[in-house]
Amino acid sequence: MRREARPFDLEALPTVAEARRRFLAALPAWRPPEEPVPLLEAAGRVLSRDVAAGDDVPAFPRSMVDGFAVRSQDARAAMSRGLRVVGRVAMGSAPKATVGPLQAVWIPTGGPLPPGADAIVPVEATEAVGDWVRLREPVRPGDNVLSRGADVRAGQVVLPAGHRLRAADVGALASVGCTRPWVYRRPEVAILSMGDELVPPDRIPAEGQVRDANAYSLAAAVRADGGIPHVLGIVPDDKNRLENALRDALQWDMVLMSGGSSVGLDDVAAEVIAKLGPPGVVVHGVRLAPGKPTVLAVVGDRAVCGLPGNPVSSLVAYDLFVRPALYWRMGWPGGRPPATVRARLAEPLAAPKGREFHARVRLVAGPEGLVAQPVAGGSGQLATMARADGLVTVPLERSSLPAGETVEVRLLV
Ligand code: AMP
Ligand code: MG
Repeated sequence: MRREARPFDLEALPTVAEARRRFLAALPAWRPPEEPVPLLEAAGRVLSRDVAAGDDVPAFPRSMVDGFAVRSQDARAAMSRGLRVVGRVAMGSAPKATVGPLQAVWIPTGGPLPPGADAIVPVEATEAVGDWVRLREPVRPGDNVLSRGADVRAGQVVLPAGHRLRAADVGALASVGCTRPWVYRRPEVAILSMGDELVPPDRIPAEGQVRDANAYSLAAAVRADGGIPHVLGIVPDDKNRLENALRDALQWDMVLMSGGSSVGLDDVAAEVIAKLGPPGVVVHGVRLAPGKPTVLAVVGDRAVCGLPGNPVSSLVAYDLFVRPALYWRMGWPGGRPPATVRARLAEPLAAPKGREFHARVRLVAGPEGLVAQPVAGGSGQLATMARADGLVTVPLERSSLPAGETVEVRLLV
């Protein structure tokens, strides 16, 4: 069969939002396999089971300040005559002293409330006179006491399944004694590069050859997002070789390839991906710049993405389509919205007609806040993206953004 090069009909292509919706809707329900991990390796992982506290936290009423443990009913006398200091609470053991009428006990922050006392007066609100202490302010029951179970109650779910662990979460697990949380396995992502012109990056390219950059930028992105990349190497522009390589790559959780995704004579990605199995290709071409020639497919329960060969385009398409699919595969379908900052455009941004434009910008601190400086360059100029701090979206319905407009900049990871 002879192929013909037929250009994309822009009007017929889905918008970015529609393409993403179709792609994600085609992915089946997926619960990844799970494994326990040591707490020190848990950051960034997604919990596969709820974690409930075995005990109350704190396990005993604790002082929230350095000060004196007192009986609140003594407040009036404490402000005039003062209270007698009869001891001190030590950290890390049960309190030995008891607070009797008109008595006070010194207590450090976090120390256990001694029997008899029902409130703590901060040291700043007292005046010491020998063995006596006078209060400068009234005190009510429970003042400055963190009651038992105030942080977490025994049996309460501290963190639910599907939650991705951050620093505070790892600490919260430690505080309830969960030292080997159950988490989903990290998705393993196969990465292929297609093109007769490509050589590995450690080669000196002959005339007409270029080094494979995409496999490496995509692998870095996958790793940053919590996946495990497998760079499988370079495939020539050949349908059979590509089909074999893709079938082999389907042993992994997800497959990314770059190159050959457009509609030229050598662009066989969409055709070959379509042969891998149902449900098949759900998107070929998006009203996006850079990144129009993107192929999004589902094969069985695996996402297969044919990304554009142009290095900037492949990363923009990764950002918009691959990352949400990776989050789905790692058991975190909600994912995380991108980190953004607001900045004022230093120059106008003109978008290519009929496509949502994702412009590279550099951020510079100005006297009135951050300024976004557009970095001009084609989608083949990866160094322009390396110089950029983030991306600004020019929506489909606007052909340009004027200088001075406040924009949201998605920071590049
Ligand atoms: P293609 O999508 O195959 O039409 O490629 C578009 C442009 O991207 C061409 O200039 C390719 O040489 C270039 N390209 C394709 N794959 C890669 C890659 N892995 N690394 C760097 N450049 C690439
Ligand atoms: Mg090519």
